[in-house]
Amino acid sequence: MKYESTRGGTTPVSSAEAIKMGIAPDGGLFVPVEEVKLAQGQLADMREMSYQERAQSILSLFLTDFSAAEIVSCVGGAYTRDKFDNPRIAPLVKLRDKLHILELWHGPTCAFKDMALQILPHLLTTSVRKTGEEAEIVILVATSGDTGKAALEGFRDVPGTRIIVFYPDEGVSQIQERQMITQEGANVQVVAVKGNFDDSQNGVKAIFGDTGFGEELAHHGMKLSSANSINWGRLVPQIIYYISAYLDLWQAEEIREGEPMNVVVPTGNFGNILAAFYAREMGLPIKTLICAANTNNVLTDFINSGIYDRNRDFHKTISPSMDILISSNLERLLYEITDHDAEQVRDWMYQLQQSGHYQVDDVTRTRIQEVFWSDFATDEETMTTIRTVYQEYGYLLDTHTAVGTNVYEKYVKATGDATITVVASTASPFKFASSVAEAVLGDEVVGEKDEYSLLQLLSEVSNLAVPQGVRNLDTRPIRHTHKTDRHQMAAVVKELLGI
Ligand SMILES: *Cc1c(COP(=O)(O)O)cnc(C)c1O
Repeated sequence: MKYESTRGGTTPVSSAEAIKMGIAPDGGLFVPVEEVKLAQGQLADMREMSYQERAQSILSLFLTDFSAAEIVSCVGGAYTRDKFDNPRIAPLVKLRDKLHILELWHGPTCAFKDMALQILPHLLTTSVRKTGEEAEIVILVATSGDTGKAALEGFRDVPGTRIIVFYPDEGVSQIQERQMITQEGANVQVVAVKGNFDDSQNGVKAIFGDTGFGEELAHHGMKLSSANSINWGRLVPQIIYYISAYLDLWQAEEIREGEPMNVVVPTGNFGNILAAFYAREMGLPIKTLICAANTNNVLTDFINSGIYDRNRDFHKTISPSMDILISSNLERLLYEITDHDAEQVRDWMYQLQQSGHYQVDDVTRTRIQEVFWSDFATDEETMTTIRTVYQEYGYLLDTHTAVGTNVYEKYVKATGDATITVVASTASPFKFASSVAEAVLGDEVVGEKDEYSLLQLLSEVSNLAVPQGVRNLDTRPIRHTHKTDRHQMAAVVKELLGI
């Protein structure tokens, strides 16, 4: 299987090359040249398998230039009991009849990003070796909060790599920031950028697009790569858990062979829901993909109208990992939905860059609406959902998963669809402790308490232990204090790399 750019400007490359490069040289994103399909009977064959075995089967369909031993070694290094606090890795929890929560946050940083970022360093170092690359790999990450920490944990002390994470100084929660600035590891750097996530992401994209910068790094024996979901190596591991969730439903006799399910995904950069789209393309019986947004509802408007318009106010919400106005992975969807029309995609992306706006044709809009449904939740609705779900089921949702659950209720109301549904749960409730505690305990109880005491309080009311990834954060030493302006990011990278 070869990978080509969504903008059509590069000759197809192997998956190892695509993963090593991160982003295509023409500024597009790598996608498989041909459709990848589950083989006849393959779902049934995977039914009894562990998560790790399922991961091996699915990855081998996409990473055809990797040997079986290489895939086994990558999977084996990532999804371990040491790193994940649940033996099923991505367990399903039944909330009520026909509604299941797919917990994707049992990894070391308590967010779903671990599902991909625990394996990406293995995929990347294998890719580097396979392609005979000798340069040191420099990973640049722009984070809305969760990617940064998950990437730091994944890449810390991985030989042959260095990692620099940029986060928006006004966009992350106290716990998210503390998780990052206390990060250990000899090859890691963390920098706060003035502004919001889009500022950080644009700054990183500009560095990737600067060929002079790349040449200067090459001169010093270094090469840039990306751990953001623009990297195919980030996206492909996310396909696994949708297939695994279906198999778990089937195993538990919640679903019959071939019966469809819906999937709800709290969405920001469109990476997670795009992985579900690929699972559907492979032949997994998924009926509708429900794209849940917060008040930064640019995707909801796009799916409903065909008009993408980032020219709008940016809202800081209680689901900060979804506070995004430019969803990079939408480019991959457009490419797939238009049957690989690179010229058209390039034109839309050019308009987006020039005016912050583009409109797809009716055929494309209709095709998208055949698969996707979208709505959004306000902060107030999100809080109400956390409270009612806790009262009715004794189950704690984090703010992002609550957006998903709220939008699911709206979907059912609007369509009457009773198809069995899986909500992707993207973070542990402990990671967004102050909002979750306020929703279930009220402001009087929460008062002026800091997030660290709220962790304790949440643990007491929920009878769940505070997860390792957020425990003792307040007493860990702060190791990173760099701050910069978005226009200075390239200079900061050079300074940190010592060139
Ligand atoms: C990253 C993240 C999201 C958004 O996922 P995308 O793949 O960017 O759409 C949602 N919730 C949480 C908790 C996240 O960390």
